[in-house]
Amino acid sequence: MSGRGDGGGSTGRTGAASGRMGVASGGTGATPGRAASPAGRTAATPDIDDFTRPWWDAAAEGRLLIRRCAACRRAHHYPREFCPHCWSEEVRWERASGRATLYTWSVVHRNDLPPFGARTPYAAAVVDLAEGPRMMTEIVECAEEDLRIGMELEVAFREEGGGVVVPVFRPVPEADRPARPPGA
Ligand SMILES: [Zn+2]
Repeated sequence: MSGRGDGGGSTGRTGAASGRMGVASGGTGATPGRAASPAGRTAATPDIDDFTRPWWDAAAEGRLLIRRCAACRRAHHYPREFCPHCWSEEVRWERASGRATLYTWSVVHRNDLPPFGARTPYAAAVVDLAEGPRMMTEIVECAEEDLRIGMELEVAFREEGGGVVVPVFRPVPEADRPARPPGA
């Protein structure tokens, strides 16, 4: 009953982690009180507005976007309409490489907020994108005991239902990325 807080129950919320993009965290950034609704929305359904729509549209096509400032050249995430480093409004979308390293994580064993309860345990994480920004996400395809600070990750995309696709991260395979299996 109590102690669930904002869903993730562990990592807390920072500006870099939640904002309007907090869906990929597996509940940590979910808006309290916005559980399932008649439209089939759940806590995993992001609030998408005109400004963030390009980001979600790109994710649905398998591309991870960040914002880069033309004035100071620094990138940021979550997306903002002005640069958080120098306040310039000369900020544009840019496709990120999809590479990242693991900054920190927390394995969530209990989350009463649908649909996260069916996914436990999962690794809510903060990763450092190769371009610099930090991003809240979830690590997939990795056993809990194999998680390591600084481990190399690559983006993957998970369908959340309702046409929404959320970027998650998985370990980069030892042999970098294997080619597509022959005959597949
Ligand atoms: Zn700037």
